[in-house]
Amino acid sequence: MTMHSATLAMNEAMEARRAAGENVLHLGFGEAGLPVPESVAKVLATAAPLNSYGSVAGSNEARSAAAGWFSRRGHETEASQIIFAPGSKALLFGLLSVLDGDLVLPCPSWVSYAAQADLVGKAVINVPIPQESGGIPDPALLEAALESAIRDGRKPGAILLTIPDNPTGTVADAGHVEAICRTAAKYDLAIISDEIYAELSYDSAAPTPLSVAPDRTIVTSGLSKSMALGGWRIGFARVPKTDWGSELMQQLIGVGSEIWSSLAAPMQAVAAHVLSEPLDVTEHIRRARFLHSTVGNAVYAEFIGAGALCRRPTAGFYLYPDFEPVRPRLAVKGIQTGPQLVQRLLDCYGVGVLDGTAFGDDESNLRARVATSLLYGSTIDERWRSLHSDDP
Ligand code: PLP
Repeated sequence: MTMHSATLAMNEAMEARRAAGENVLHLGFGEAGLPVPESVAKVLATAAPLNSYGSVAGSNEARSAAAGWFSRRGHETEASQIIFAPGSKALLFGLLSVLDGDLVLPCPSWVSYAAQADLVGKAVINVPIPQESGGIPDPALLEAALESAIRDGRKPGAILLTIPDNPTGTVADAGHVEAICRTAAKYDLAIISDEIYAELSYDSAAPTPLSVAPDRTIVTSGLSKSMALGGWRIGFARVPKTDWGSELMQQLIGVGSEIWSSLAAPMQAVAAHVLSEPLDVTEHIRRARFLHSTVGNAVYAEFIGAGALCRRPTAGFYLYPDFEPVRPRLAVKGIQTGPQLVQRLLDCYGVGVLDGTAFGDDESNLRARVATSLLYGSTIDERWRSLHSDDP
């Protein structure tokens, strides 16, 4: 295990180059690179004087706003089912530390899941994800991995699904999610559904295990990606409305009480504002989605043109090209491995990306973030206008 997240290590390396005066293009970090909407900045300024500790799970206002947010998406939710934390990463860590059994982890997947499991002493059962599957495993492959683990005396306890997916930037289809949930139910697995990119699904709402298996699904989400507020560290989770869900909430509050105490009070005011979905916030997210998909599709065409294998992005702001087919051409330039390609892109062009090993995958893959900063303008409105496009 790396003791330093690969994405954060890349971020720090790029910051050091920037500080040394280098002109770099940082595509190695999970950040949308969009400015804060005005109404959100105003709420934060107004909330700045709030300096008291709050209750661990969050204020009534923030929890109710998040409950309303889920309810409007068709998943009736009470405030007591919601917990906030400084980032969904903290909540994922909390969940892995309290859930029973081994973690079933699709590969490739986000850098921190396996590392967090390792930190809390949880064994991992890896399940490969076929390239074309939208970031979740094939039910037959999942079943085979579970049967083999059980034969080895292991006890699978929870499966982690990322819908939409990081690193592939794609969304699984609803039928596939349903099939995976049925398999999870057959083996009595808890489902941790990481839905941090759900609001950035380009064409239609991303499917969620909540629609299929609400009693065994815990959703984690936050404002880092849809609102580009990663540095403000606003994450939340929803537990099921069952005895098990209430027990889980108490356990998460226990972990939170010993580690983060509560989400910063001004950030709770921001969360309550954003999750109540005022018009300017929904418009901001709609434009962000459009900018990501426009730039993502253009970069996708470039990767395909360069001879890489790549899935067209359908959500979020990542592309995950596989350079295996062009290995001979890279070899002529003295590049044999993914890490060497990453280094060459950095040294020759000042471009930062990550190779697939950061996600538990083959090193011939690269993960690149879509950079809407390549469009003109520093505000989202200017970038929007620079496309000279009608509304999508
Ligand atoms: N889950 C996924 C798939 C991510 O890509 C990230 C951030 O990169 C997170 C969770 C953590 O987000 P945060 O802690 O900012 O809420």
